[in-house]
Amino acid sequence: MIKVMKFGGTSVGNEKALGNLVSIVKNEPSQKALVVSAMSGVTNTLIALMKDPGASNDAFYDELLKRHVLAARTLTDQSQLDDLEMKLRLRIFNLRQTVERYHADSAGREMLQDAIASWGERLSSLMVASVLKAQGLDTVAMTSEEAGIAAVGLPGNGTADLERSEKNFHSNVLPMILAGRTPVLTGYYGADSSGRPLTFGRGGSDYSGSVVGYALGANVVEIWTDVDGFMTADPRIVPSARTIREMDYGEAAELAYFGARVLHPRTIEPARKRKIVVMVKNTFHPDGEGTKIHELRASRNELLRSVAVKSDLSILKVYSSEIVYNPSLVAKLLESVSEDGVSTYAISTSLSTLAIALPSGAAKRVCDKISKLEMGQIEKVRIKDNVSLICTVGDDLINHMGAAAMIFDAAMEAKANIEMISEGASDVALNFAVPSEQANDVVIRIHERFIAGRTGG
Ligand code: ADP
Ligand code: ASP
Ligand code: MG
Repeated sequence: MIKVMKFGGTSVGNEKALGNLVSIVKNEPSQKALVVSAMSGVTNTLIALMKDPGASNDAFYDELLKRHVLAARTLTDQSQLDDLEMKLRLRIFNLRQTVERYHADSAGREMLQDAIASWGERLSSLMVASVLKAQGLDTVAMTSEEAGIAAVGLPGNGTADLERSEKNFHSNVLPMILAGRTPVLTGYYGADSSGRPLTFGRGGSDYSGSVVGYALGANVVEIWTDVDGFMTADPRIVPSARTIREMDYGEAAELAYFGARVLHPRTIEPARKRKIVVMVKNTFHPDGEGTKIHELRASRNELLRSVAVKSDLSILKVYSSEIVYNPSLVAKLLESVSEDGVSTYAISTSLSTLAIALPSGAAKRVCDKISKLEMGQIEKVRIKDNVSLICTVGDDLINHMGAAAMIFDAAMEAKANIEMISEGASDVALNFAVPSEQANDVVIRIHERFIAGRTGG
């Protein structure tokens, strides 16, 4: 049995968290691979470096080194610590050179942006491997390039090539694990066919964990984070949210895509293909049961299991009297939205309008693009900003008579106007868009009405 253990940013974020990580890993008898995120906040500072050349100064790099060394200090011995510091210094030196190249040559920037964003994982993996080694584990830090996590796609939005990754892992990683060693792998990114780093989008280390699970033929992927599991809502919005003990892959995937940040939206895909169990556990409360995500067929006679909210969306509306009479027009419009890798969160059509919910950051670009299309049939294109999508998930929700009416009633209570509805596409989810100002209130009310009173997960 091989287990993959993924530790998120807060789980490697300071000395205390690392201490917990050490005991969790030491108590795990299985053969295993670790996947780690950057220390919390580090990826943000790396991305900021690209926006502000002035931020790339001695103080920044000294602080980055210090943060990693200080977190490891009490958990290791002097010779390990010296060795770690030397390795970190070298990587930080390479980071600085890459950042300088980035600012010197605007033409080559796109090639370097994912490399820079992924540097936090290159540092944290060294730190975690070193600490565990000092505690007697036979660890080896490996970058995604060394392990062979293969990726395709656009910068900031890569997708793992599962077959190629598996092949690479069979030669680069599996023999090591079978020999009793524990690789500590960088999360968040893979390498494209020319070896260039491609990140999987923010929060992408969960997906890396699942990809590694697939590539190793693991039985379990554990996602170690800072909450007690996958919960009935984001506990930052609904403090009384409860941990869900068991979930089906489909439910978890819907919620993750529509805003439950506890899992990167694509985490479930690789695991589901191989029926690998995904466990979500709390590094700061390791004895808690956490959430088990697997193929769950039991029917649970309850309206809703969980509610999530995806914010920072806009609704793009394309007006044309030919929407319904000319199906190829809709196809062309959707193609021009998806060409640049823009995700859509809801689509609906009427006689003369096509409405698409998409990330606000992409809305203006897509609007300009569609406005320029040589399609005489398009009358106008409009954007509505500050929209959030509420995603409600329940077992067989679609067949539950009156579900939509009851859920919308809760939205009305929050005085939220429903801007767009998506139901029927998924058997387990009912999604609808509301103005962002009311979104949290809608989540709180839906949780209160349909989820809070129940016991158990
Ligand atoms: P990590 O750094 O471990 O990847 P993240 O911050 O990415 O951690 O994800 C964990 C956070 O996800 C939690 O602190 C919580 O606020 C948020 N979250 C959102 N929705 C949910 C949910 N349904 N269940 C649990 N946590 C959620
Ligand atoms: N470090 C990356 C991020 O902050 C990936 C991750 O944490 O999963 O987005
Ligand atoms: Mg995360």
